[in-house]
Amino acid sequence: MSLLSLNNVEVAYDRVFLAIKGVSLEVQEGSMVALLGANGAGKSTTLKTISGLLAPERGEVRRGEVQFMGQDILSLSPPERVRMGLVHVMEGRRIFEHLTPDENLLAAYRGPGAKKSFDELREQAYRYFPRLKERIRSKAGYLSGGEQQMLAIARALVTEPKLIMLDEPSLGLAPVLVKEIFAIIREINQNQGVSVLLVEQNATAALNVADHAYLIENGNIVMSGEAAVLKQNPDIQEFYLGGG
Ligand code: ATP
Repeated sequence: MSLLSLNNVEVAYDRVFLAIKGVSLEVQEGSMVALLGANGAGKSTTLKTISGLLAPERGEVRRGEVQFMGQDILSLSPPERVRMGLVHVMEGRRIFEHLTPDENLLAAYRGPGAKKSFDELREQAYRYFPRLKERIRSKAGYLSGGEQQMLAIARALVTEPKLIMLDEPSLGLAPVLVKEIFAIIREINQNQGVSVLLVEQNATAALNVADHAYLIENGNIVMSGEAAVLKQNPDIQEFYLGGG
């Protein structure tokens, strides 16, 4: 069943610049999908359109539809979309640096609307990211880049999402850490049944864990398919996998 679908979505910045030019894509329930592309291709714009976080005075959806669980969501506010189970981990992590990991998690908790207790969700998050538990007394600003990325994902998990959207979680991290974090994201996807839409420039890492992938260039989806098949595609190998 389709959890998220975009149909011919066009987004303009400052009334003129078309950042995405008719993007259609789908995330099936329970699946992990990668959206790949170079710097400036339109990946972040696509995610912001889905979560409702386009800068209101600059970006506008010109046409197209975004459906989540069969419902048109473009007229909903970002918090309403989060309540439906759609959470966006922005590029650059955006954690609360002056708060501890626990306090960061608490800030994301739904409160009375939640199905599980905060303690239960916190423990679940620390099971996936045991390193964070070791840093429980530190302010988040003192955590390493990898730990901050882990905290950003843990915080998303506390909202009890159906779909987690991740914008470049590999950014600035050493390859070994990218591998570790991507493996945990895949585990969350498989164990919790949470669907994932993963935006990445690091095509190698993303294609190793995703089920399905889309390639975006200059605001257009130019290729899509099973991740394992795309990995073998000569054009993808040449331009996105470093010839490997
Ligand atoms: P990156 O990895 O650099 O974030 P991206 O694939 O996510 O790249 P977008 O951030 O979606 O790309 O940007 C797509 C295009 O829209 C780029 O040309 C960018 O300069 C432009 N753009 C992005 N945000 C804005 C904005 N707030 N106002 C004007 N133009 C913008």
